[in-house]
Amino acid sequence: TNENLFAALRAAFPEDLDQPAIETDGGLVYSWRDIDRGTAMMANLLRSLRLPAGSRIAVQVEKSVEAVMLYLATLRAGFVFLPLNTAYQSGEIEYFIGNAEPAVVVCTGKNFGWVSKIAFRAGTQHVLTLNDDRSGSLLERAVHHPDQHEIEARAADDLAAILYTSGTTGRSKGAMLTHGNLLSNARVLKDYWGWRPGDVLVHALPIFHVHGLFVALHGALLNGSKMIWLGKFEPRTAIAAMSRATVFMGVPTLYVRMLAEPALTREAVRGMRLFISGSAPLLIETFSEWQERTGHTILERYGMSETIMLTSNPYEAGDGERRGGTVGFPLPGVGVRVRDDQGQAVPAGEIGGIQVKGPNVFKGYWRMPEKTREEFTGDGWFKTGDVGKIDERGYVTIVGRSKDLIISGGYNVYPAEIEGYINEMSGVAESAVVGVPHPDFGEVGVAVVIPKPGAQLDGGEIIAALKAQLANFKIPKRCFVVTELPRNTMGKVQKNLLREAHRGLFA
Ligand code: ATP
Ligand code: MG
Repeated sequence: TNENLFAALRAAFPEDLDQPAIETDGGLVYSWRDIDRGTAMMANLLRSLRLPAGSRIAVQVEKSVEAVMLYLATLRAGFVFLPLNTAYQSGEIEYFIGNAEPAVVVCTGKNFGWVSKIAFRAGTQHVLTLNDDRSGSLLERAVHHPDQHEIEARAADDLAAILYTSGTTGRSKGAMLTHGNLLSNARVLKDYWGWRPGDVLVHALPIFHVHGLFVALHGALLNGSKMIWLGKFEPRTAIAAMSRATVFMGVPTLYVRMLAEPALTREAVRGMRLFISGSAPLLIETFSEWQERTGHTILERYGMSETIMLTSNPYEAGDGERRGGTVGFPLPGVGVRVRDDQGQAVPAGEIGGIQVKGPNVFKGYWRMPEKTREEFTGDGWFKTGDVGKIDERGYVTIVGRSKDLIISGGYNVYPAEIEGYINEMSGVAESAVVGVPHPDFGEVGVAVVIPKPGAQLDGGEIIAALKAQLANFKIPKRCFVVTELPRNTMGKVQKNLLREAHRGLFA
């Protein structure tokens, strides 16, 4: 049998191909037949280019249905999809294109000048354009190709995509994902989250990252479900779409932004079945506020570019409650374990490095065999770089990243714990704690705190309040009140920049 991911997705299309598959916020409706024909034409175009096997198709375009079709067409034609964050500028694009050496680059018309220069220098043969209004050379050329295409045969172990990590802890690495990785994870999630006939997904996420491209898109497609397609996230449009939908997936900031809208009421989301959050920690405050306002309990899950989804809070009440602050249980078929620095197992509830194994775990980092070897244990588990714990009942909690761990006077200090206490204080919107060099303690914590609008905060008072609650070695030595935290294009806090900014404080 053909283990091409697209074959499984195509097989899940409804029998009546004239039903709507995607409705856009721009008022367009795409039927399943449109998706089938559009991807066939693009796959035929790719085939006509006579690219070598394993060619990468690098894509940096605005979110659009045609961009999704290009992803599906790449799978269909058996090539390797390589999505790039739309925020990336020439410095970043030069690195990614130089590193991945794609055979084809697809960019927006307005970026063609500089992107094509970089691409041709890296040996790329074809640079095409695609704009979010359906203009550009990709579609102009695709329409001359037949709208029938036989799906290329691929094995489960063949590459389907290279996803560059978000670059939160350092330079982005290309995670090589196979057809088998993607399909096994999509099947597990379809089952675990109870996808059912009649489900409709509000798709509000970017499509250059695991969350929007794989978790959301594969979820809907594998269920033959219609998507309501939002080109950009706009909280009011998203809330309005929920009257016609059942499933929503978002990163925590999307939930925060919707909570700021009076339109978010129980009535507005009455028909919804499931709200999912991931990609970054969901604050307990957001989790609880959402529950109060809507009557729905957000289901938080955890994953990464290298592994797609790893854990999830339960969907079925019989499997346990959805616990805020945790990322739930290992998904069926996924192994999750916690190890100390010596690689030894730790008792339930104790903190250590999270390691994982399963059919979802990637093949390795693109052109980084050394790095790949370092990140796997001798017995084949992938070291996620996240630090966490598993309690007696099996709930996994992430407490931070190993790179962010602070070792102060020989004691391990987990920034997430301190941040949790600071975030509870009145007037605090958010915080980040990082380690900086210190002559006596090796490292000490420094807190950076963002006040809520209108709140007056004092760093000294925050430190004094922490002293009443926590052991002295955990207390940050300085606390700065500022207006915002540095974030990367995925909205993740870049602690490396904070460390850099404060590294001279005690030196
Ligand atoms: P890089 O690996 O380049 O430093 P990154 O790890 O941020 O960047 P991604 O693969 O996009 O790149 O993100 C995966 C990471 O996101 C996980 O390792 C974890 O730290 C974090 N994450 C994902 N979901 C959650 C969650 N529900 N709660 C807390 N953290 C999460
Ligand atoms: Mg990472």
